[in-house]
Amino acid sequence: MKAAIVGGGIGGLVAAYDLAQDGADVTIFEAADYVGGLSSGFKDPRWEWTVERFYHHWFASDVHMLGLIEELGWSDKVLFPRPLTAVYFDESFYPLDSAMAVLRFRGLPFIDRLRLGMGIAYLRYIARWEALEKFTAHDWLQRWVGKSAYRILWEPLLIGKFGQYYKEVNMAWFWARVKARTPNLGTYEGGFQAFMDEFADRLREMGVDIRLQTPVERIDPSPAGGLIVRSKEGTLEVDRCLVTTSPAQLADMAPALPKDYLEQLLGLKSMGAVVMVMALKSQLSEAGIYWHNMSKEAGFPFLSLVEHTNFLSPEFFGGEHIVYVGDYLDVDHEYFRLTKDQLLERFLPSLARMNPDFNADWIRETWLFRSKYAQPVPPLNHSAAIPDIRTPLPGLWFASMSQVYPWDRGTNFAVEIARRAVRGMLSTRM
Ligand SMILES: Cc1cc2nc3c(=O)[nH]c(=O)nc-3n(C[C@H](O)[C@H](O)[C@H](O)COP(=O)(O)OP(=O)(O)OC[C@H]3O[C@@H](n4cnc5c(N)ncnc54)[C@H](O)[C@@H]3O)c2cc1C
Repeated sequence: MKAAIVGGGIGGLVAAYDLAQDGADVTIFEAADYVGGLSSGFKDPRWEWTVERFYHHWFASDVHMLGLIEELGWSDKVLFPRPLTAVYFDESFYPLDSAMAVLRFRGLPFIDRLRLGMGIAYLRYIARWEALEKFTAHDWLQRWVGKSAYRILWEPLLIGKFGQYYKEVNMAWFWARVKARTPNLGTYEGGFQAFMDEFADRLREMGVDIRLQTPVERIDPSPAGGLIVRSKEGTLEVDRCLVTTSPAQLADMAPALPKDYLEQLLGLKSMGAVVMVMALKSQLSEAGIYWHNMSKEAGFPFLSLVEHTNFLSPEFFGGEHIVYVGDYLDVDHEYFRLTKDQLLERFLPSLARMNPDFNADWIRETWLFRSKYAQPVPPLNHSAAIPDIRTPLPGLWFASMSQVYPWDRGTNFAVEIARRAVRGMLSTRM
């Protein structure tokens, strides 16, 4: 079998691995000049390890991702520290990632804390999500976990992640988020990019042709029965093609898809992400607290502040302290147009609010990353709106973040859906 893969993110790489193991002749087309897609990283010359462009970690429950690493024989390079995740309340941050911490949280009356704890325990206990997609998280959480807990803990998060759509997000998505999360968070020795590069090298050894800086422009059915994949390098005729880009990019690339399927692709909503990475001379936030959920209501101009070096030692980064500030936004939000310096100017007062000793001299360097496709939005009864991974064009398959529902997007689910697509590609007749 001759196969093309569009996208060299984790989904595309694992699909190539499975296809090549089955003896297929595989070509990966990747638009960027690096592999890894949204979970890629970069490295400053002063650092030993790479830093992800968008903050990334694994959960201990990420069985598909960790299983893949085990298959590759690299499990000894996975680290699982136990950093803290904290929520902003009344000018302080409260780590709320254990039952005891929730019970001690002084922002809520004791009875509400108990109700919150029981609500989370219930969501973790139940195994099926289907009935939950008929309710919005906004309604369900207020009803069952309580209005105060919702207002202090979950509403800021939903607003931060989904903006104008926050009241539409369904409860199955929320269930999946609670279900899959673990307090221990994982990474790879050298950062996610080290893993991606080692994986790409393994694929090359297996004979996979990885073409960087080669965006696919069009995919058409071939009169001979397969598909014709067109890039700046010309055309490649293949039996099967897996696309791992956003739904809108697939619709653009493959106009021969039937109208219904194209409409389904274009009907999916998602949010973009804007993330600034900073290399600082000193530690910004309290030791041990890695992830800070901020509150826009309290005036912070971003959703998360993530101190990477409260998760991993600064010694991997030349002694520097690495801090991300990030947000999920509509793609027409001004943060997609402002320059890096303009954004930094907006963010500086909040950094001083995190630590009164902070001043702009602490910042050695900043990097800005933006993605227009970062967080799919799952409204009520969303399962009926998900496009099939097997598209109606013979031989063309599609595996994206928008189809891993009810799970929230993540490398773990990118691995699962890509491997599922490959099983389909291999089992359908040519
Ligand atoms: C802000 C943020 C934080 C996240 N945090 C986490 C986390 O902590 N843990 C976790 O596991 N996951 C996290 N994720 C999710 C994770 O990054 C994704 O689920 C995963 O990377 C998706 O992999 P993929 O291969 O499906 O897609 P992508 O990584 O998006 O790969 C698609 C690839 O296609 C390429 N491409 C696009 N158009 C073309 C074209 N025309 N031709 C060729 N190539 C093309 C792109 O350049 C890209 O490399 C996060 C995502 C974001 C945005």
